[in-house]
Amino acid sequence: MTTLTISNLCKSFGDVDVLHDINLAVQSGEFVVLVGPSGCGKSTLLRLIAGLEDIIDGTIQIGERVINDVEADKRGIAMVFQSYALYPHMSVEQNIGFCLRVARQPSALIREKVQDVAQTLQIEQLLKRKPGELSGGQRQRVAIGRAIVRDPDVFLFDEPLSNLDAELRVQMRLELMKLHNRLKATMIYVTHDQVEALTMADKIVVMRDGVIEQEGTPIELFNNPCNKFVAGFIGTPK
Ligand code: ADP
Ligand code: MG
Repeated sequence: MTTLTISNLCKSFGDVDVLHDINLAVQSGEFVVLVGPSGCGKSTLLRLIAGLEDIIDGTIQIGERVINDVEADKRGIAMVFQSYALYPHMSVEQNIGFCLRVARQPSALIREKVQDVAQTLQIEQLLKRKPGELSGGQRQRVAIGRAIVRDPDVFLFDEPLSNLDAELRVQMRLELMKLHNRLKATMIYVTHDQVEALTMADKIVVMRDGVIEQEGTPIELFNNPCNKFVAGFIGTPK
């Protein structure tokens, strides 16, 4: 089943064209990894999907529903940023539960959901701390927790592990894969780490200068890159 359909999506900032005619279908439960050089438009694409930028040209659908004009918090999409984007003055518990409080859910239910998420991410002992009292890895767990608690249809990750050291990155990568299997959620994951792309993806999408150069399974792209650029990016020795 197709969860997310992007059709003829274009985006410019002033007279700078950033995305040109992006077409992409993401299946339900699929783990899609988006790669490409810095500045090629990966974050812009995620921000358009998340509702953080206006869509002027093209459509984005969740299932059959066009979400171009649906507000960000009503799309069933949660985004995790490289920079964590936590509220510094709130505790971990308050950060994770924030969107549920905004949605006026009963406080007992919020406590229960936050506990459940904290257990999944093994951060129960951190619930009373503020983000300033956490390590980078712990902060990123909280940011992921804040996404999970919303129970979204689609998760968007924008280079979530790139601020972490190599060892922690490997550990978090494995945990994200487990989470993906457990939640059976649809995930789009931006990285410029080729190992992450090859090991995590059901499907890799390679972007360059605002266009999709090629998409396919890691094996398809590794064995049959459509050009030297994709080969270089995926690491095929050609
Ligand atoms: P990536 O995530 O692949 O590194 P981005 O999507 O962040 O790339 O950026 C793509 C291009 O769009 C860059 O040239 C960037 O400078 C430009 N851009 C992104 N956001 C804005 C903005 N709000 N205003 C103007 N230009 C932007
Ligand atoms: Mg980016």
